[in-house]
Amino acid sequence: MTFQALYLDKADGTFSASLRSLDESALPEVADGAVLVQPEWSTINFKDALALTNRSPVVRLWPMVPGIDGAGQVLASNHPNWRAGDRFVLNGFGVGETHWGCLSQRARLKGDWLVKLPEAFTTRQAMAIGTAGYTAMLCVMALERHGLRPGSGPVLVTGATGGVGSVAVALLSRLGHTVVALTGKMVEAPYLQALGASEVLDRQAFVAAGKPLQKERWAGVVDTVGSHTLAHACAQVAYGGAVAACGLAQGADLPATVMPFILRNVALLGVDSVMAPLALRQQAWDRLARDLDPSLLDTMTQEVSLSGAVGAAQAIMEGLHRGRTVVRCNE
Ligand code: NDP
Repeated sequence: MTFQALYLDKADGTFSASLRSLDESALPEVADGAVLVQPEWSTINFKDALALTNRSPVVRLWPMVPGIDGAGQVLASNHPNWRAGDRFVLNGFGVGETHWGCLSQRARLKGDWLVKLPEAFTTRQAMAIGTAGYTAMLCVMALERHGLRPGSGPVLVTGATGGVGSVAVALLSRLGHTVVALTGKMVEAPYLQALGASEVLDRQAFVAAGKPLQKERWAGVVDTVGSHTLAHACAQVAYGGAVAACGLAQGADLPATVMPFILRNVALLGVDSVMAPLALRQQAWDRLARDLDPSLLDTMTQEVSLSGAVGAAQAIMEGLHRGRTVVRCNE
């Protein structure tokens, strides 16, 4: 049985990304509880874009079928929790990095990595959310665990037109928070307001070094960009507030001081989606089914075929996109 997949190779040290016809027997084995799946939809997250454009060492095994996310149907299973016909969603666990992923019409995955797709979502909607949206939910849940409630005060979302940012704005607004969106694309202010932002700020004031303590403005922050932006965000959080930090679109550095933490009791909450335990993932997906307005997903989503995935990844790397990109795997 052959199928189409995106195929990344580094033969002779030269990187290539192409659409290939592969045989099912080529799929990597899984030690325990293997599940053969048909990803109907995948997506291009920031990390996929890095892999597809060979920008940073996301791929750690060559050749690689990329795609850290997938949603579709189980075809065959050696895992007690999964049967043929079940609908799954997969996010991370090193898929597309160390194990062949879901920018493909077939994948062999570990049953322990899969989450039951909530009834509320189609497989396309699940990928419109993808790792980006599920991470936005994890950030919101982290802020809530710290005590953030509607009425606590304004919540800042950085990298707001990106995938994580767009879903975070939509979620926080639906939950009753006053959301302030920080963006480098002021032209997208109407888009961010349609997602629920009360105010849209230009990121220009955040991109270079600032004072270690600034005016207290935010009860919480979802930060997707790191570096000076994260340092500014920490310096502006009100006493006892928190920042959920999940991204590095500006940089992996954190040029900050300890002042916000030791003088204002600010908490910096790290958020990882890749190795998050299954129970937390299922909780995040159940919350997304409850708290995300599915009609807003359409506003933020573009669609490409498998053959259009590399072009979409380049657009993400050049900062030319907004929101989410889903990939049709069946063509
Ligand atoms: P996107 O590319 O969709 O969005 C990133 C956004 O960041 C851009 O749209 C832009 O928004 C802003 N941005 C880009 N470059 C810069 C810059 N130089 N300085 C300041 N802002 C910038 O990516 P995602 O939303 O999918 O992911 C965001 C980050 O979160 C990435 O770093 C990704 O690796 C990380 N991530 C981490 C996860 C985890 O498990 N911790 C899971 C998922 C993502 P605007 O123009 O509106 O300012």
